[in-house]
Amino acid sequence: MLPYFSSIKKSLISLLGFLILFLLINEFQSVWSAKITLIEQVLYGLLVATAVLASYFNRSRLALSATLFLLFYLNLSSTLPWNEWLLAQSDWLILFLASVLAVLSLVKDRGLLSIHGLYRLLLLSAVGLICYYWLNSQTDVQATLASFPILADYLKYVSIELPLLCCAALLLWQTLREKSLVTTALLSSFAVWLGHYYQVIDLPWSVLLTLITFHYLLVVLVDSYFFAYRDELTGLPSRRALNQLALALGRKYTLAMLDIDHFKKFNDTYGHDIGDQVLKLVASKLAQVKGGGKVFRYGGEEFTIIFSGKSPEQALPLLEAVRQAVQDYKVVIRQAQRKTKKSRTGKNTSNVKTVSVTISIGVAARVDKLNFEQTLKQADQALYRAKKSGRNNVSQ
Ligand code: GH3
Ligand code: MG
Ligand code: MG
Repeated sequence: MLPYFSSIKKSLISLLGFLILFLLINEFQSVWSAKITLIEQVLYGLLVATAVLASYFNRSRLALSATLFLLFYLNLSSTLPWNEWLLAQSDWLILFLASVLAVLSLVKDRGLLSIHGLYRLLLLSAVGLICYYWLNSQTDVQATLASFPILADYLKYVSIELPLLCCAALLLWQTLREKSLVTTALLSSFAVWLGHYYQVIDLPWSVLLTLITFHYLLVVLVDSYFFAYRDELTGLPSRRALNQLALALGRKYTLAMLDIDHFKKFNDTYGHDIGDQVLKLVASKLAQVKGGGKVFRYGGEEFTIIFSGKSPEQALPLLEAVRQAVQDYKVVIRQAQRKTKKSRTGKNTSNVKTVSVTISIGVAARVDKLNFEQTLKQADQALYRAKKSGRNNVSQ
């Protein structure tokens, strides 16, 4: 449950930030209205830069969305040949962009300059055609629905509001399910798009698109940061983050190397996928270390904890508590059993079992003249001693 809330937290903070910025822009119109021409001129470049950057950092869904908003903005300022035709198709436009945002929440971020880019373009074209067909077949749809008297009051909502509601539900669902900043950004764009259509939002498009662009750029930036400094599986800071911290450490700190006991055997017995799940669970237990200890995934099934400004005497009880917490944690394993003649007719074929994993810990403090790598090496040697003396213990 905990990882779910920590990742949904990221999305909520992002949405909240967007909302606050929006309210500020709405409140202080006089600040930016004097510079509106400048904003309008800069926006083209900003949208292009966002699309290129998002694509470069493999956030292709944001790149596509930014490109469509760019086309939409170009269209507003009547520089495109099909401008007049599109102006007459405002229903189609509102439906198309809303559906595109919803559909983008369903697909994966794939490189645009590959065959996947072509698939995405085909998909978006299909969405455009479906929207067009839907709006043009309204006479038939309404005639069919009119035979249900109970629907009489709602018929006027069928052409636009109904599909928009479906898109909103889909986007919300995907935001909760995927918990990624990209879907959150798609959701915020969707809210702005509908807000403007229903005149809840009364700001010029140049300002709204600048806001959307900033959100996209922030997502690309934050995601790249997490990509570089966070371990994907456990969500803990990675070894690169550890190396960064090492540069900022003071003269006094204690360092612990932790290693899961007999993890290879665990993988061999229960499979790599369950091994991954256990690795996540162990990481979440380690993350609860007290006393300001910072936890990193060093690599594989090895972790590092750093206690800045603490002596080994202060760190040892904290590490002992972590070791105990991992040992006490009962991991529930559900293994699908092979179908036997007997169980083929039975309903439940899963086999529930609880196991516990243990960790060994090696501790070292930085002493005079030792640098970070040497201290790490000492902790590693202490870990080796912990393994030698029977595992599931803390050694100094
Ligand atoms: P020891 O008690 O001596 O540490 O034994 P061990 O089996 O844990 O040690 P060893 O270093 O030989 O094996 C580490 C194993 O950890 C090898 C690999 O199968 C497993 N492992 C490393 N990284 C991952 C991972 O990301 N996922 C999974 N499932 N297993 C991993
Ligand atoms: Mg190991
Ligand atoms: Mg191990």
